[in-house]
Amino acid sequence: MLKLERFSFGVGDRFAHQAKAQLRAFQMVATDGIDVAPVWNKSNREHSFIGSEPQSVFDAAQAAVKELGWNGGWHVDADHIRLETVDRFMACSDFFTIDVADSIGKPAMTEDVRAFISRHPELIGTLSIVGISVPFITTRSDVERVVSKYLLAVRDAGQIYRHIIAARGAENIIAEVSMDETDAPQTPPELLIILAALADEKVRLQAIAPKFTGRFNKGVEYVGDLVQFAKEFSDDLAVIAHAVQQYGLPSNLKLSVHSGSDKFSLYPIMRTAMARTGAGLHLKTAGTTWLEELIGLAESGGDGLELAREIYAYALAHVDELCAPYASVIDIDRAKLPSAATLSSWTGQQFANAMRHIPGHPEFNAHVRQLLHVSFKVAAKAGTRYTDLLKLNDTIVARQVTENIYERHMRPLFVG
Ligand SMILES: [Zn+2]
Repeated sequence: MLKLERFSFGVGDRFAHQAKAQLRAFQMVATDGIDVAPVWNKSNREHSFIGSEPQSVFDAAQAAVKELGWNGGWHVDADHIRLETVDRFMACSDFFTIDVADSIGKPAMTEDVRAFISRHPELIGTLSIVGISVPFITTRSDVERVVSKYLLAVRDAGQIYRHIIAARGAENIIAEVSMDETDAPQTPPELLIILAALADEKVRLQAIAPKFTGRFNKGVEYVGDLVQFAKEFSDDLAVIAHAVQQYGLPSNLKLSVHSGSDKFSLYPIMRTAMARTGAGLHLKTAGTTWLEELIGLAESGGDGLELAREIYAYALAHVDELCAPYASVIDIDRAKLPSAATLSSWTGQQFANAMRHIPGHPEFNAHVRQLLHVSFKVAAKAGTRYTDLLKLNDTIVARQVTENIYERHMRPLFVG
């Protein structure tokens, strides 16, 4: 079976120009003694906003791997696919993030719920799990409620999984099941029930992406209770280890954290838990590499800075339209967005500082950063004017990309 490595890290490369700069960060963390497999991810939504084809992600990744002589594992993630969107990813992906969030909460048939409960009496009562201090106490009606809420989503996952393996062969793909894009988080006891149901459905998943408590806005810090997150993360690790044993799921099954990028405060929590338990992790980021491109262009001055300013001005004028698809994962205070004229008076360095995510930097502006993060289709509209400037300023842009991934993400997450 194609096996997902213990540590993997998902990066987005919206315009397919930074795979090499991204891969350099993985080489740097390897020299620190930590092997992390790169996973290039791009969702159907991003492809349609940009007008790109999934094959381009594979091609850019493969070229980078060749050019830098990368010998480790690497993968291309068909990100958040569903039955109706997976086919165009089939030939050029080996990692499939099966998104079943839309089916969560659609009530399952009573007899299916009953059948699940009679198959799984072990889930009812007091359940002690190694690594969790207080046993779960679960009643029959708790299980009924959870199964009723998640069973159709699990069945969906089974259907999509079978569609993928029919085309590709089970041994050639890595399957992840994602439930993060929904309203309510899944608690550790719920995760256990979901994993039992996925095992029943014979989904050989190697990663699961639950929704955690707290807010995971795109490109900015976590908003939530760190103590609660630490407990939930640690309990999820214990639940996964238990489910692997109990239900015969793949032994390398691990948590996938769809971070939305830049959840710096969570990195030490996850690192500590992984060191304590020996667990693996997939951490998916959200295409913030494109912001590093913009930061590089702003710093380059000249035409690069000019285009970056134009993109901001356009984004500001179309803020409703650009933010609408991301309403649940951004928090922008419009009063804190400078006018286009004010922004044009900034130097390239000031503009870069406003975008670059260094919390506590006096010029950092989380609102400008979030708005620009969701404005990548404005750059896509600029077409070759944008990508030619990336090429022209490649050195400075690539440096932002590598430094961001290595210094702000990989070191704190994997090295400490
Ligand atoms: Zn996600």
